[in-house]
Amino acid sequence: TELMPVNLNEVIQHTFELIGNRRNHYDFQLELKDLPDIEGIPWKIEEVLLNLLMNAMEATAQGKRIRVGTGVEERMVCCTVVDEGSGISENDLKFIYDPFFTTKGPGTGTGLGLSICFGIMELHGGEIRITSAPGEGTTVKLLFPVPEGSRS
Ligand code: ADP
Ligand code: MG
Repeated sequence: TELMPVNLNEVIQHTFELIGNRRNHYDFQLELKDLPDIEGIPWKIEEVLLNLLMNAMEATAQGKRIRVGTGVEERMVCCTVVDEGSGISENDLKFIYDPFFTTKGPGTGTGLGLSICFGIMELHGGEIRITSAPGEGTTVKLLFPVPEGSRS
C-alpha cells in the first residue's frame, strides 16, 4: 500500500464530518496545533480516529466534554483523545487490544476497534497508549514518527 504525506489535523476534521450530528451530543473541544506532515495512509488513520471517538462517545454521558488535541512531542506527531467517561478497570486494560474483547452488550460492541487501531499504528511505525481511571475517564494517545527532513 502506498504511503503519502498526511496532515493529521485534516484527518481529524474529516473524521468529525463522518460522525455528523452525533457530535452535537457532546461538548467536543478541539485543540489542534500546527503539525508537520506524517507519512501514512489517510483512510487507515481515519479509521483509528473514528474508533477512538466512537469509544469516547460510547463511554461518556451526553453533554460531557471530550477533548481532542494534537501537537508535536519528542519529534513525534501526537494526538490525544481525552474523555470523562466510565474509564477502564485495571483488569480490563490488559485485554483492550485483544480482538473481540468488549465490555459492551451483544449487538453493540464487536471488540475489534482497538485491535484494528493497534495494527494500524504499528503499520505507521507509531504507537497507541491508553491510560484510564474508572469513574474518571480515559486518555488515548497516538504517536506518529515525523519523517526525516520534514519540518514543522
Ligand atoms: P468495542 O468498542 O467494540 O467494545 P474496542 O476494541 O473499541 O471494542 O474497545 C474494547 C473495550 O475497551 C471496550 O469494550 C471498553 O470496555 C474499553 N474501552 C475502549 N475505549 C474506551 C473509553 N474511551 N472509555 C471506556 N472504555 C473504553
Ligand atoms: Mg470500539
